Amino acid sequence: MIRVRFAPSPTGDLHIGGARTALFNWLYARNQGGKFILRIEDTDRERSTLAANKAIFEGLEWLGLDWDEGPKVDGSYGPYFQTERLKIHQEHIQKLIEAGHAYYCFCTPEELEKKRQEAAARKEPPKYDETCRRLPPEKVKELLAQKVPYVIRFKLEPVGETIVDDKIRGKVVFKNEVLDDFVIMKSDGFPTYNFACVVDDHLMEISHVIRGDDHLSNTPRQILLYRAFGWPLPKFAHLPMILGKDKTRLSKRHGATSVIKYRDLGYLPEAVLNYIARLGWGYGDEEIFSREELIKKFSLKGVGKTSAVFDTDKLNWLNGKYIRKILPERLVDLCEPLLIEAYGDHDFEHLKKVVLAFHDRLVLIPDIVPLSKYFFKEVKEYDPQGIEKHFKSEHSRQILETLKEKLTQLESFTKDKIEPVFKELAAELNVKLGIVIHPCRLALTGALESPPMYDVIEVLGKAKVIARLEQALSFIPRLP
Ligand code: GLU
Repeated sequence: MIRVRFAPSPTGDLHIGGARTALFNWLYARNQGGKFILRIEDTDRERSTLAANKAIFEGLEWLGLDWDEGPKVDGSYGPYFQTERLKIHQEHIQKLIEAGHAYYCFCTPEELEKKRQEAAARKEPPKYDETCRRLPPEKVKELLAQKVPYVIRFKLEPVGETIVDDKIRGKVVFKNEVLDDFVIMKSDGFPTYNFACVVDDHLMEISHVIRGDDHLSNTPRQILLYRAFGWPLPKFAHLPMILGKDKTRLSKRHGATSVIKYRDLGYLPEAVLNYIARLGWGYGDEEIFSREELIKKFSLKGVGKTSAVFDTDKLNWLNGKYIRKILPERLVDLCEPLLIEAYGDHDFEHLKKVVLAFHDRLVLIPDIVPLSKYFFKEVKEYDPQGIEKHFKSEHSRQILETLKEKLTQLESFTKDKIEPVFKELAAELNVKLGIVIHPCRLALTGALESPPMYDVIEVLGKAKVIARLEQALSFIPRLP
């Protein structure tokens, strides 16, 4: 049975890197018919918050990454919050102590800091000097009876090597002499990440540990713990780093890193999901994958070793592609609150027509607000370049004058009736259609670009169109 897990520490929002780890685990489970488990690693009592738990659920839910076991769902391997597993962890710590694989350490933080500094002065790596490993059992008993604060350390044999046989990175060899007797239980009685992770992965029968390669250096310690318990190892797969465009590790400096921020900026979840999937994974040179295609095509073999670069331009491009694909009703639902906020309450039918006129033009959902301004507000100024090009040309005035007359006469103000007016006028003047359209567009929108002219005219309606043509006609003679 394939069982994978996403094990975030709830210390902030769900970030792009975390979401990528969650997605690859989810895809692997869905592709293999396995289970995807969510485990909240909240043993760092100072940094874990309830708000962060919520933010993680919200991010995963927005991306549609549903978990088969975990908070709010449960399953037979719980609890799924690590702090609720404290008893289990403490029992396992005892087992390691009894088996001689772990010991009490009473060194104070001040002593340890001093030793670290001395080691640094000698240009040696900061390793624990094993003082308490050598304490006689009676001394340990005495100190425990005196309630001297302690941590528990793993007893490591600093010889030989530990090999991480990674599904992505291949064999990675760590010399045990660079490791030290690391802490497995902190003085507050809570287990450390490495310890809790191993115990929980084992008890939850995790078959594949898929996580960011920032954890690769933890893996030899975890393997040593598995060995000390006599447990089989899961398979490991460490995902390549995600960098910003400047090739440094992705961080806030590169823009939004929280997934939910992307929702708030107006990205579609399917675009973000598709984009995140491509951060380190590929399938030929394909770029666009539906959720179903991702599930079908995903494999750990498709994950590369080289770092992925987060490129907002590409994400924007994908978002535009996905906006073109969504149903008109959904686009209207997404745009409606933004338009109402910007321009006040409006007739829904009108608002719908405005939104749909821009279906082909939006990159981000909030783009609708500035782009559609002239449908809700008067045109107060004209694009200066437009003035030079389209209001000062030979026929501008005559074109706008004639359009005004002909459009005034139209009984039904629909695209199919509007189009012939422009075509006839172009023929009469013996000019290209654009020559007629450009000054009209500038007069009606103030801008150089807009959705197709006949759509704009129909959606604006007769009264506004005539008024704006008149406004432009009184503006042109005043031009220098
Ligand atoms: N809690 C760890 C983190 O958020 C989990 C690492 C792991 O997947 O083992 O980085």
